[in-house]
Amino acid sequence: SYRKGGYHAVRVADTFAGGRYIAQRKLGWGQFSTVWLAYDSQTAKYVALKIQKSAPEFAQSAIYEIEVVSALTKHDPENKKCVIQLVDHFKHTGPNGQHFCMVFELLGDSILQLIKYNRYKGLPLNKVRDICRCILTALDYLHRQLGIIHTDLKPENILLVSTINPSNDPNQSKMVPIVSKPEGSMNNNGGCVANGIEKKLKQRARQAVARIYARRASLGGVRPVTKGDRCLDGIDFRCKVVDFGNACWANRPNADEIQTRQYRAPEVILQSGYTFSADMWSFACTAFELATGETMFAPKTGQSFSEDEDHLALMMEILGKIPRKIATGGLRSKDYFDRYGDLKRIRRLKHVPLARLLTEKFKFSVNDACDFAGFLIPVLDFAPEKRPTAGQCLQHAWLNKSSESSVQKLDSEMSKLQIK
Ligand code: ADP
Ligand code: MG
Repeated sequence: SYRKGGYHAVRVADTFAGGRYIAQRKLGWGQFSTVWLAYDSQTAKYVALKIQKSAPEFAQSAIYEIEVVSALTKHDPENKKCVIQLVDHFKHTGPNGQHFCMVFELLGDSILQLIKYNRYKGLPLNKVRDICRCILTALDYLHRQLGIIHTDLKPENILLVSTINPSNDPNQSKMVPIVSKPEGSMNNNGGCVANGIEKKLKQRARQAVARIYARRASLGGVRPVTKGDRCLDGIDFRCKVVDFGNACWANRPNADEIQTRQYRAPEVILQSGYTFSADMWSFACTAFELATGETMFAPKTGQSFSEDEDHLALMMEILGKIPRKIATGGLRSKDYFDRYGDLKRIRRLKHVPLARLLTEKFKFSVNDACDFAGFLIPVLDFAPEKRPTAGQCLQHAWLNKSSESSVQKLDSEMSKLQIK
């Protein structure tokens, strides 16, 4: 895709916006763009530079994304709403055409990567709560204050707030940005010198974790870190919602088919109209995945049925039958349901209620399973208008439960002692 209309090939130490931003290494990419770690020579901070493909349709979507993220940033001057902040934007002309570029605050790994690091085992519930609180704060802000639907909420689009932005860390002043082309590194993947930076960042992350463990261990009674131990106690998770390339204002929806498959709401599949509550569905699927390490619904095409039909069947197996009125009320209902509201091509469903799934398959305690299911089930209502809003979810008992880990309790006791 590095051709006309496609990606802009970037090399380490390439400069942008008249020399202000200097490319350091590639952070990631999506359908429309590549994202680079860049050094902002004006503020002496590291930032994330998103470079859009140049073809007109990508340019249009960039213009749109800039409009949305500008609004997000403008209305959140205190940076408290758990959404990505836009720092700058400009156009950059390269051999493949003109590219829209967006400069964002630098964030860390996505929570999908976090799930991977944790070997798809699911995160401890107190961490799931932290992350849920951030996502709901973002959704409440988007929905209630701005009237924006994200439409692509999923673990990949939720990034941890980076604790390793070297320029925010006084101990990192030794970390020198790359400002000139490293010799012999002409690839566009970051090259050899950039790998050095990556290693350093990873090493720093490991050291930070080790420091936390050392501190905990010194409090006594805490098991030591062992090889492969991914215990995440004591790391305070903050995260932010990113990727507003598909977001829309609720009063001007821009597509019939929204959301990534596994996180897609039933009203989107049935085409019965969607609004903010479609994000809530994706939120519940994301929370489930965080807690279990597996996607809540993973539909597949079968010999006699489509992926959509399998998806609806999987929903009903966990959540019960879709009420007839809802099942038959969408533009596409006739493709899947008979007039009684039964699936035409998948007849036998195996009902496994959520709480039972959590205890039997994922080995939750009965208490944890019931509490968590009690939080998720209302959000997974087949009737979109019955789902609680993000603001209402934030008030839910499950989120405000104090299930401090023993280490956190120890910590807060220690800090009380120190105050006295
Ligand atoms: P696209 O719209 O092309 O999908 P995204 O905005 O999702 O682009 O960004 C692509 C990838 O780049 C993300 O999945 C993430 O890995 C990385 N990324 C995006 N924004 C940031 C950021 N602010 N800080 C760090 N990494 C980022
Ligand atoms: Mg993306």
